[in-house]
Amino acid sequence: MTPHDIQTALERLLPGIEKPGRYVGGEYNSCAKPWEAADFRAVMAFPDIYDLGMSNLGTMILMDQLNREPDLLCERVYCPWLDMEAAMRGAGIPLYSLDSYHPITDFDLFAISLPYEQLYTNVLNLLDLAGMPLRARERDARYPIVIAGGHSTYNPEPMADFIDAFVIGEGEEVIVEIARALQATRRQGREVQLRALARLQGVYVPRLYQPVYSVDGHLLGTEPIEASLPKTVLKRIVPVLPPPFTRFIVPNVDTVHNRAPIEIMRGCTRGCRFCHAGMVTRPVRQRSVAEVIRAIEDIIRATGYEEIGLMSSPPQITAMCRRWSRPFRSASRTVA
Ligand code: SF4
Repeated sequence: MTPHDIQTALERLLPGIEKPGRYVGGEYNSCAKPWEAADFRAVMAFPDIYDLGMSNLGTMILMDQLNREPDLLCERVYCPWLDMEAAMRGAGIPLYSLDSYHPITDFDLFAISLPYEQLYTNVLNLLDLAGMPLRARERDARYPIVIAGGHSTYNPEPMADFIDAFVIGEGEEVIVEIARALQATRRQGREVQLRALARLQGVYVPRLYQPVYSVDGHLLGTEPIEASLPKTVLKRIVPVLPPPFTRFIVPNVDTVHNRAPIEIMRGCTRGCRFCHAGMVTRPVRQRSVAEVIRAIEDIIRATGYEEIGLMSSPPQITAMCRRWSRPFRSASRTVA
C-alpha cells in the first residue's frame, strides 16, 4: 500500500475508532523532513500504545540524534489499540509510520525500544502487523534491518530469533553509527550489513554467534562464527551525557505523562546488587544545575508544557531536588 492508500483507508476507518488522534501524527514539533530528500530512512518503535510511547524519553532522544543528520530521517510508530488493530487487519492496512504514513517495509531500519520484558510479545505483533516474517533468518532484502535496544536487551537471548541486531548499552552515539554502517553497505546484501553492525562496539548480532556447551550440556558461553568478529560484545556507554533533548513532540490527545521529561542524571550511587536500573546504568553521570535549568527554559519555549518531570534513580532525585530547590525556585520566577 502507498502512503496515499493508507491515508484514504484511515479516513474511512478512524471515525469508528477510539482516540483517533493516536494514529494520525501531525503533532506540534513532529518530524517534517521530506521523505524524498533523505538517503537513509529509519522508523523508531515503542512497542506499546501511543499514550505510553509518546512519554518515552529514550525514543525521542534517538529520533533526534538521527534527524539531526541532514541525509537521515527517522519517524515513529506505536502499537495500535485492540480496536484499531482489528480494523487495520480487516482493511488490510499494514503497520505505518505516523509521520509520513509509509508502511514499515519502506524503511531501511526498524529500530525498537525494549525497556522491559513485558513488551516482547508486542514486538512480535508489530512485526506481524508490518507484514514481516517474525524470524530474523526468514527476512531478506525486501525488509528493513530490525534492531532493538534498551534495558531488557542486556539479556538479548530471549528475543534473539526475532531481532537482527541488539544494542547493548546506551544508544545516543551508536544509533547514528548503525545508520551509517547500514547506509554504506546496503548494496552489498544483508549478510554484509549484519557483519558491519557486529563490528560496532555495543552491537550484538545473534546469528553471527553460536552457543558452546560442555559435555554434560551446560552452557559455557557463546563464540563468534568467524574470527574477524569481536569475541566479546562490550556495553556501549556515553561518557558525558549529551545536551538534553528539548524539542518534544506535543501530543494532540492525552498521554500518560502530559509533561516533558528531563534526565538530570544517569546511574545510581548506591549500587544495590539486586537492582537492574542501578547496575546497568553505571557509571553515574550528572548534569549540572545550570544545564538542567537552561534545558527547562528551552523546553517551555519549544513546547508550552507547564510541567517538567525530573528523571533519575529514586534516591538521587530526592536528594538532588532538596539540594536544588533554591535554583529551581529562582528558575521558575525567571521563566514566568
Ligand atoms: S535505584 Fe534504588 S534499588 Fe536501585 S541501586 Fe539505586 S538505591 Fe539501589
